[in-house]
Amino acid sequence: MLDLHVLGTSSARPTTERAVSGSVLSTTEGLVVMDPGEGFQERFAAARRHLRSVGGEPRLRPRRVGAVLLSHGHLDHTWGLLPWLQTSGLDGRTEPLEVAGPVAASTFDRLLADGCDAALDGEEPSDLLRQVQQWRALGATSERLGFPVRWRLGDMDGGRWAVIEDDGRLVDVVGAEWSPAGWAKVRFTPVASSHSVASCGWRVDHAARQGKVDATRLEPLRLTEDERLLLFRQGHLEQGGERIELDRYRGPGTPSLSLVVSGDTAAPGLVVDGPAPDLLVHEATFLDNEHEKAVAHLHSTSSGAARTAVQSDARVLALTHFSARVTDLSEVLQEAQAVLPEDVPCVALVDGDRLRIDAHGAVEHHRRRDGGWTVTRLAESRR
Ligand SMILES: [Zn+2]
Ligand SMILES: [Zn+2]
Repeated sequence: MLDLHVLGTSSARPTTERAVSGSVLSTTEGLVVMDPGEGFQERFAAARRHLRSVGGEPRLRPRRVGAVLLSHGHLDHTWGLLPWLQTSGLDGRTEPLEVAGPVAASTFDRLLADGCDAALDGEEPSDLLRQVQQWRALGATSERLGFPVRWRLGDMDGGRWAVIEDDGRLVDVVGAEWSPAGWAKVRFTPVASSHSVASCGWRVDHAARQGKVDATRLEPLRLTEDERLLLFRQGHLEQGGERIELDRYRGPGTPSLSLVVSGDTAAPGLVVDGPAPDLLVHEATFLDNEHEKAVAHLHSTSSGAARTAVQSDARVLALTHFSARVTDLSEVLQEAQAVLPEDVPCVALVDGDRLRIDAHGAVEHHRRRDGGWTVTRLAESRR
C-alpha cells in the first residue's frame, strides 16, 4: 500500500485555498515526508486531526517518518523542514531520520573535498548543501535535536550520492537508490528532472509479495521433513524423477507498486525509467496560455505534464503545484485530458487530497469532506 497525503498544491506563492508544497507518504514500513515547504508542520498536524476526527487508518504518527525526500532547494519545497525537525525533537523523538536531496555537481565536488562545512561561493543561494549547513548551524544536529539525523546529498548528472554523518564527516559515496535502515520493501530512486537549480523527482517502489504456500495442498506429496526443508530452501525438489515447484502451491501474491513525484520540472524534463508507475504526481504550474513562461522558468504546463505521463506509461496522472493565476481546476484537467489517452485518468489536486494505491495496484482519489472522505476509484487492481 502506498498512500500519499498531499498537503499543499500551490507553486511558490500560496493562495487563500492553496499552500506551498508538502506531502506525507504512508507505506507499510513507515512514513516519508516529501518537499516540506513553509508551514509544513501545521499542515501535517491538521491532516492528523482530520484523520483522527474520522477514525481509521493511517494515523500518520510523526515518529514513524523515516525519510525526508527533497526535490530541490527552492524554499517553497524546503522551508518547513527545520521547524518540523525541531518540533520532533521537542516531542521526544528518538527514531533516526534520513534527509535526501540533490545538489549541483560543483557543490558535490566541494563536499567530497572538504566535507559538509565546505565553503560555497558561486553556487545558487538555494543550494541544498548551503541549507544543510544553515540548518545544522541553527540546531539540526543529532545532539541538539535528540534523535539521529543523516543527510544524503547527490549529484544527479554524475549519479554520485554521499551520506554525511552528524559531525559533518563524509561517511560514504553511495548509490542513488536507497531505503531507510530497517526498511525491506520500500525503495527510493531519484528521477532526473529539469529545473533552474539541481533537481530530481522521486520514485518510490514497494516490492511485490509472493503468495503464501498452502501447506494442506503439500500433504498428498508425503514429504519427509528433510525434503520439505529442501523444497522451501531451493523452491523446487526432485522426487521420484519428478520436479516439484513450490510456486505451484502458493496462493495469490501482490504485485509491486510504484509512485513517481516530480518536484519542479520543465516538460519534457522528467525521465522515468523502469516499470510503468501506478501513479505520476506531476507539477503543472501553468496553463497553455502561459506556455512561454513555463519554458522560461523550467516549469510545466498541464498538457506538458500529460505528455510526460504518456511517455512514462503512468497508469494515473495527478496534477499539482499550480500558479496563483490558475483559479479554475477544470481548465487544468481539460488541457491534460486533451493529451492523455482515454484510459489514463487524471485529477487536479487540492490541499488535503489523498492518492491511495492499494496492495493490488488499484488507485483511489480521496477528497476531504466534513466527517470523512469522498472516494473516487481511478484505476482497478493489477492482477
Ligand atoms: Zn516550487
Ligand atoms: Zn522550484
